Amino acid sequence: MRISKFFLTLLLSLILHALHAQVLLNNFAITGVTIIDANHRTALPRQTVLITQKIISDIFNDGSKSIPDSFNVLRMDGKYLLPGLIDAHVHMATDPSDVDNRENTLDVLQRMLYSGITSVRDMAGDGRTLASLSRDAFTGDIISPDIYYSSLMAGPKLFTDPRVAASSKGYIPGNAPFMKAITDTTNLMLAVAEAKGMGATGIKLYAYLSAPLVDKIVAEANKQGIIVWGHAWLDDAKPSDLVKAGVSPLSHSPLMIYEKMDSVPSYWKNGHTHYTSIGDSVPDLSSLFELMKAHHTILDATILTYKLWGEEDTTIRYDYEIAKQITIQAYKAGVTIDAGTDDDQKAFVQKEMELLVKDAGLEPIDAIIAGTLNGAKALHIDNSRGTISVGKIADILILDKNPLQDIENLESVDLVIKNGKIFKK
Ligand SMILES: [Zn+2]
Repeated sequence: MRISKFFLTLLLSLILHALHAQVLLNNFAITGVTIIDANHRTALPRQTVLITQKIISDIFNDGSKSIPDSFNVLRMDGKYLLPGLIDAHVHMATDPSDVDNRENTLDVLQRMLYSGITSVRDMAGDGRTLASLSRDAFTGDIISPDIYYSSLMAGPKLFTDPRVAASSKGYIPGNAPFMKAITDTTNLMLAVAEAKGMGATGIKLYAYLSAPLVDKIVAEANKQGIIVWGHAWLDDAKPSDLVKAGVSPLSHSPLMIYEKMDSVPSYWKNGHTHYTSIGDSVPDLSSLFELMKAHHTILDATILTYKLWGEEDTTIRYDYEIAKQITIQAYKAGVTIDAGTDDDQKAFVQKEMELLVKDAGLEPIDAIIAGTLNGAKALHIDNSRGTISVGKIADILILDKNPLQDIENLESVDLVIKNGKIFKK
């Protein structure tokens, strides 16, 4: 018994040292690790984690309990064990016939998983493509984080946007069940049922919706059991209207300033999001942040995307200053922040987490919680993912170096476990 276990462990380590290996073991133990997650907030050294049939079945101090003979043992002395990362804002299928073609998307998804991302929230695209990718990710037919996606709703004015046409080919824009124009006369019961029928986890409210219409959509979504997510400002519904309606998370920190439209300098109002100058200061949003805390609203800050845009186009570089300042205010006020990139080509969620620490003042542990538990909360999967807890699914990231010492150590990936299956580059 001992010998065969030794050879099994040897075989396992050989397999894991091959390039891009995937291994599915029924029962295994990871020993010698330091756990970092939202449950403790400080590093918990010298731990053993047991995984039984894809579920975290026990966690204890190394050597304090015996490991069952039938378990394979992965000795990971000195390494760091975190929950798998969650990117709360990606777009994998904006234009499936061009940049998001299947080959490119599969390459991105595979790199995401090997980097430590085990779940993503897709914030609107071609629902048919997303349904197919999501199915293949959950079954393990493709190497990918689990994909949760949205069905988009917006006022008719949005539907001249070329991205909508690219995402809903074959439909008259505004009529696709996953990308719908909504007015006061829309049959909301049917529209919400269609979103659910597409397999979407949430409805994304994008633009040109009034506060009363948002209330009606959320009421119907609650009845049918589907989450409502949204941009933080819907031209005309304001951030506080969305918070009161129960929309969460709200995406994009800079849109928060529309709460104080009357006190926003006039030169900021020229475009929807593209300000020309930061002016003296960002308005005080403390009452909005208090309201968000009372309603447990999550802020999906997406600061990385504003940094990238500002580097491409210097006329919009102030967006990043505004994004940072608002995120700093929200964090200081105690608002729950997730980690979303709104970008999946140039950088992954680790970069958003790094910026949250370096530019928005988050403690490294809070950036880690943003990229794990708070992402799980955004998806309503925090009962099964987001922390290293007994009973949760084994979605795990193992690092060589301590991310609490330097958040860039999130990139020192040793191996990734999704749904109990081990992935190693
Ligand atoms: Zn987006």
